Amino acid sequence: MNDILLKNALFEDRRVDIYIHDGIIAGITPSVPGTFPSPAEKYETVDCSSKAVLPSFINMHTHAAMSMMRGVGEDINFHEWLARIWQIESGITPEYVYYATRLACLEMIKTGTATFNDQYWHMPQARKAALEMGIRPVLSYVLCDRMNPAESKIQIRECIRHYEESLKWPEKSQFVISVHAIYSVCEEAIVWAAGFAAEHGLKLHVHLSETEKEVLDCKAAHNGMTPVEYLESLGFFSPDVIAAHSLWLSDKDVEILGRHGVNCVHNINSNLKLTSGYRFRYNELRDAGANVCLGTDGCGSSNNLDMLEAMKTAAMVQKAWREDATAMPLNELFATGTSNGARALGLNSGSLEVGRIADLMLVDIDNWNFISTAPTLANFIYSAHSDCIDSLMCNGRWIMKNRMVDGERDIIRDARKVLNTIY
Ligand SMILES: [Zn+2]
Repeated sequence: MNDILLKNALFEDRRVDIYIHDGIIAGITPSVPGTFPSPAEKYETVDCSSKAVLPSFINMHTHAAMSMMRGVGEDINFHEWLARIWQIESGITPEYVYYATRLACLEMIKTGTATFNDQYWHMPQARKAALEMGIRPVLSYVLCDRMNPAESKIQIRECIRHYEESLKWPEKSQFVISVHAIYSVCEEAIVWAAGFAAEHGLKLHVHLSETEKEVLDCKAAHNGMTPVEYLESLGFFSPDVIAAHSLWLSDKDVEILGRHGVNCVHNINSNLKLTSGYRFRYNELRDAGANVCLGTDGCGSSNNLDMLEAMKTAAMVQKAWREDATAMPLNELFATGTSNGARALGLNSGSLEVGRIADLMLVDIDNWNFISTAPTLANFIYSAHSDCIDSLMCNGRWIMKNRMVDGERDIIRDARKVLNTIY
């Protein structure tokens, strides 16, 4: 692997040189203009005088292959939307997932995401697409038996088969078990998934308390228990659980999620679009001990996979509904999309420090959004758009350079071709 020197980059508002060796950040030193490593050291030197360097994003909840389902459910509510999505998904093929995931990876790379936590069908094809694109995939086998015990047994067998297959995967991809939601998976399968994940040290990904209806239905079905109380009664929670949405929470729910150190993923744009709600209890979850992360959800509901947009919206909505301009301060906001995600997934990335994996982005600061005395991070999140992200590195390897991604036109052309065969 090539060693790389990022020369004179703006990092936390000072100029530094960053050395990357074997995919790892090997040094961060104050930049001295005009000094370069000797040619014998064989560094690929990148002039970063007009760039800021930041850790790349970690999208903690998405359904990548929904990238060709943008706009299929506009102006309808969540449960109507879900029925429509399930109807479309009944016709998708492994080939569709491969091309749709490639398209999603292209968008994620262009918008600064180097790791994504996916929940979708046909995992082998999704994984193939992601690895070809050079992005780090976290992939689920998804249990979603629609409360059919016979189907549940089949899916558990399949899940074990995929887990065994994953033992041969290279380190760059990670296998996770997903329980789609409490309303779509039999109790026996939920209990099995929690036990299997604990036994094999796997992360457990679930949609949790996304809508008020989910909470009301759960209370009616399970002796007044909320979805959080119900899952706790099944022994589901641990710091390995990644709970997407976690939106409709009682005080007791917050206490439970905090006590177990659950990773709660905020998906603001999806929640707003489907009118699932917007009063995400960021302060309370953080203070209780939960690890709050950020995701986009799939393009079927959020319409894009842009983490920078998600970050800005999340902060604006927190400030608005709390009527508190101090809510979700910048550094915490940025951590939800970077270091908190790394912590949730057990990855040695998410921040730029010596010894960490070189997952990072270069941001073009030579434009109007950054002509300001404010911190770069403020201008990046609140002023700029993701088209200022110039280059992206995953595992010490460039997967976008100067806004160019290998094979971009082919990825778009192939996706369009496959889309035309489906609808
Ligand atoms: Zn989702």
